[in-house]
Amino acid sequence: MKLFDGLQDIVRTDVPLAPYTWMGIGGPAQYFIQPTEVEQLAEVLRRCRENEIPVHVLGGGANLLVDDSGVRGAVVKLAGEHFASATFARDRIQAGAAADLSRLVLRTVREGLTGMECLTGIPGTVGGAIRMNAGGAFGDIGNVIEAVQLMDVDGVPFTRLRGDLMFGYRSTNIISRVVLGAEFRVSEDDPHRILNQVKQIWMYKKNTQPLGKRNAGCVFKNPRGLSAGALIDKAGLKGSRVGRAYVSEKHANFIIAEGDARASDVLKLINTMRETVYKRFEVYLELEIEVW
Ligand SMILES: Cc1cc2nc3c(=O)[nH]c(=O)nc-3n(C[C@H](O)[C@H](O)[C@H](O)COP(=O)(O)OP(=O)(O)OC[C@H]3O[C@@H](n4cnc5c(N)ncnc54)[C@H](O)[C@@H]3O)c2cc1C
Repeated sequence: MKLFDGLQDIVRTDVPLAPYTWMGIGGPAQYFIQPTEVEQLAEVLRRCRENEIPVHVLGGGANLLVDDSGVRGAVVKLAGEHFASATFARDRIQAGAAADLSRLVLRTVREGLTGMECLTGIPGTVGGAIRMNAGGAFGDIGNVIEAVQLMDVDGVPFTRLRGDLMFGYRSTNIISRVVLGAEFRVSEDDPHRILNQVKQIWMYKKNTQPLGKRNAGCVFKNPRGLSAGALIDKAGLKGSRVGRAYVSEKHANFIIAEGDARASDVLKLINTMRETVYKRFEVYLELEIEVW
C-alpha cells in the first residue's frame, strides 16, 4: 500500500460495505479509510487526488444502495472522538460530521432546546443529513444551520456561513467533498412542549414507515406537488418483489431488503416501480437514495 504509506493504521483494502449500510447490501470498498483527525483526512484527500482515486464519503449509510460489485476507489468514513463529538453552548451546538443525528436530537430535547426535534427518527450522521438536507413534513436540518465546516478535494478546510448556504428539498448548494461539522442554532423552550412534538413525530413515523426492517428510507423524491409513495401505491406495486427485495406494504416508497438480498434485486425493483408509474401517470420518479 505504497499509495497510503504512513496511513496504514486507518486504511484497509477490500472491506465489505454491507455492514455499514442500513440496507445491509453491498460489495467491498477497494480502500476503506477511517481518518480520526482533520490533518489525516487532508492527507488522504491529497493522496487520492494525486493518484486519481475517486473518493466516496460514507456517513451512517442510511440513504445508500451499494452495488454488489462494490466501490472502486476510496470510501472515507470519518471516525473517532473529534469527528463524532458535539458541544453545547447556550443557543449554539457545534457537532462533528460523524455525530449520530438521532442521539444529537435526543440530547437537545433533554437539554430543553428547540429547533432540531423536527429531525426525530431520521437515522444517519450529521454530515449525511447536511448533504441530503434531511427532514420532512416537520422541517429540515437546513433551517437550524448557522455554519458548516467543509474540506475541499485538496484537503483545504474552510467554513461557509448561513448566508452563503442554500437548502432545498433533499438538496443543498454544498459541493465540497467533505462536511467536517456544523454549528446549529437552537433556543430554550418548554421541555414538555418539545417532548410532545418528538412523541408526535415518533408516532407518525411508527404508523407510516416500516421501522425495524432493512431499508434506506424513501427510495424516490416526491415529484412537485405529488407523493411518490401514493403514485407507487396507486400503481398497485405494494408488496411487489424481486428476489429478496420487496415494496413495503406499509409505505410504498420504501424497499425492504431481507436475507441475502442483492443490490441487483433492489435495482430491478426500482426500474419496475419507475416504469410502472411512468406508464400509469406519465411521471418520472427521481431517486432520493444514492446508488454507489
Ligand atoms: C428508516 C429510515 C427513515 C428515514 N427517514 C428519513 C426522513 O424522514 N427524512 C430524510 O430526509 N431522510 C430519511 N432517511 C434517509 C437518511 O436517514 C438520510 O438521508 C440521512 O441524512 C443520511 O445520513 P447518512 O449519514 O446515513 O448518510 P449516507 O447514507 O452515508 O450518505 C448519504 C449522502 O451523504 C454523503 N455524506 C455522508 N457523510 C458525509 C460527509 N461527512 N461529508 C460529505 N458528504 C457526506 C454521502 O456521500 C452520500 O452522498 C431515512 C432512512 C431510513 C433508513
